[in-house]
Amino acid sequence: MKELIREVITRSIIDHKGNWSDLLANRYFEEPLVNFAGGDDPIFEEFKEIIGPWHKTPLEAYEAVHGEESWRGGTVVSWAMPWSKALRDSNRRCTDRPSVEWTKAYDLCAKVLQKEVRRELLQEMERHGVRGVAPADAEWFRIMDAPDGKTSPWSDRHVAYAAGLGTFGLNSAFLSVKGMAIVLNSVVIDAVLDPNQRTAEHHRADCLHFKTGACGACIRRCPAQAVSTAGHDKTRCMIFGYGPDSVRLAKERGVEGPAGCALCQVGVPCEACIPGNRH
Ligand code: SF4
Ligand code: SF4
Repeated sequence: MKELIREVITRSIIDHKGNWSDLLANRYFEEPLVNFAGGDDPIFEEFKEIIGPWHKTPLEAYEAVHGEESWRGGTVVSWAMPWSKALRDSNRRCTDRPSVEWTKAYDLCAKVLQKEVRRELLQEMERHGVRGVAPADAEWFRIMDAPDGKTSPWSDRHVAYAAGLGTFGLNSAFLSVKGMAIVLNSVVIDAVLDPNQRTAEHHRADCLHFKTGACGACIRRCPAQAVSTAGHDKTRCMIFGYGPDSVRLAKERGVEGPAGCALCQVGVPCEACIPGNRH
């Protein structure tokens, strides 16, 4: 079952017709890393303390769609989709706004690619008698205001941490074995599968700033001054990457929606690997 899941996600990404840039003469996204977290792992209860009581456990996410007391245990499938080197190169060259190709790749992800990968995976699961839910597509999913900025009832970064895909950087982005230039996604299914182990000592173990007190390259890469040694200013980041100026820029580029940013995820030592290489 785990191999089937990996195969379906990989195929859906690699064969997707939108996953190609003529300008880059390359794909936007490469083969994903796919990991598994136990649906009843106590860490999901801890997320209610860390993120907020609104964050759903896999049980809650599943039962919100399939009905009360429908959960008999299951698994959270979490995957990281690395940007291609060509896409990383294009954004690495930028210093004040993301590249045109990154805006297009971001838009593809937000509107089409991620949704279709989730749907294809859940459809394939159904063919094998497994039911699931894609939290990002659920009626209850929404971006909400919290005291420290925007939040949601399902955090793909925290879910990826639960599944042992990596840790968090100083800029709050997720640092996987394929680095930080990735896009995360997840679904909950009701098949109980062996989970991956979390091997990091703590949730920031792979970031050089927390390892050695040095680095801070993401601070220097951020054109919005949204990263400092004190951490990540979510509100400043959101306004820069998704606010009116960003939407105007995207429109000039032929895209309806924000231009995105992610400049702090490239041109940094953790762009495409764990610095110091834990694995
Ligand atoms: S650029 Fe350096 S400080 Fe920032 S997240 Fe990566 S390793 Fe950590
Ligand atoms: S995504 Fe952009 S605005 Fe947000 S922290 Fe990174 S570089 Fe700064």
